Amino acid sequence: MDFLRPASWEEALAAKAEHPTAVPLSGGTDVMVEINFDHRRPEYLLDLNRIELLREWEVGEENVRLGAAVPYTQIMENLRAELPGLALASHTVASPQIRNRGGVGGNLGTASPAGDAHPALLAAGAEVEVESVRGSRFIPIDEFYTGVKRNALQPDELIKTVHIKKADGPQQYSKVGTRNAMVIAVCAFGLALHPETRTVRTGIGSAAPTPIRAKEAEAFLNAALEEGGFWDNGKIITPSIAKQFADLCSGAANPIDDVRGTAKYRRHAVGIMARRQLGWTWEQYRGSGRTLEGAA
Ligand SMILES: Cc1cc2nc3c(=O)[nH]c(=O)nc-3n(C[C@H](O)[C@H](O)[C@H](O)COP(=O)(O)OP(=O)(O)OC[C@H]3O[C@@H](n4cnc5c(N)ncnc54)[C@H](O)[C@@H]3O)c2cc1C
Repeated sequence: MDFLRPASWEEALAAKAEHPTAVPLSGGTDVMVEINFDHRRPEYLLDLNRIELLREWEVGEENVRLGAAVPYTQIMENLRAELPGLALASHTVASPQIRNRGGVGGNLGTASPAGDAHPALLAAGAEVEVESVRGSRFIPIDEFYTGVKRNALQPDELIKTVHIKKADGPQQYSKVGTRNAMVIAVCAFGLALHPETRTVRTGIGSAAPTPIRAKEAEAFLNAALEEGGFWDNGKIITPSIAKQFADLCSGAANPIDDVRGTAKYRRHAVGIMARRQLGWTWEQYRGSGRTLEGAA
């Protein structure tokens, strides 16, 4: 196995163009496990750890530009206000050691349906900036996941940056597992309220072949909130709206039975998480100090 250690982004792109089968190595918390267990024996490893720009982030007017290799610990410590959903999801990843090494670029590279970053990225709204010697392109997060552990990257492309919409309202993330730490999700759910556009977005993890949004549930809730004037009057969301939203989220899941849980349990748990998160985020929105015109 040859170990390629480019000193710059340009060198990394050139190396990937020359050796398209080279496996990029960022934190190594997925790659090294696969190599240690002999699940993978790549001809080339492409170590990205000398490339500073992958570990940088920038908070802009509307988006956060998150370098592909920014570790989860940095997201938790520095981007909690801008990316609350992703910061909560980062907290649930593995242990401090793994969170110090692993990051969102690696989670996207692996594209496991159980990856914790995905529901938060889907709910917040994100685009993945990928680059090759041919140029760069932006892939909307909804189009990034193409199958079980498959993504939209071409063989010569690398993930450079993830552009994530800054939170304009409350966000939540939760994950069901057999214990509180070091656990791969049985299923996971993320929710983001976007008061600026009066919309909600969701993300479901580990309950379908790829991470997905519950689009029908979002459309239902968007219409119900608009119709009832909820964004303006700040009223408590009725139990029947919350239940229908939860049922639609549950119905959007397309899980399987496996060692971590049954399909039936996963579908049920997705609905529970959806209802709870809607309650938590809406309470936060109601208490956020906005003018509650006509509030009861
Ligand atoms: C003990 C343990 C517990 C874990 N628990 C969790 C958990 O709770 N939740 C969770 O989501 N994950 C978990 N993981 C998996 C892993 O930590 C995450 O997927 C992490 O985000 C991977 O990031 P990384 O930087 O280490 O990626 P790496 O291992 O370096 O790479 C992962 C994949 O992405 C590709 N890649 C990396 N960077 C790029 C790039 N810039 N461009 C293109 N491709 C790239 C690699 O080639 C590889 O295919 C766990 C792993 C371990 C070992």
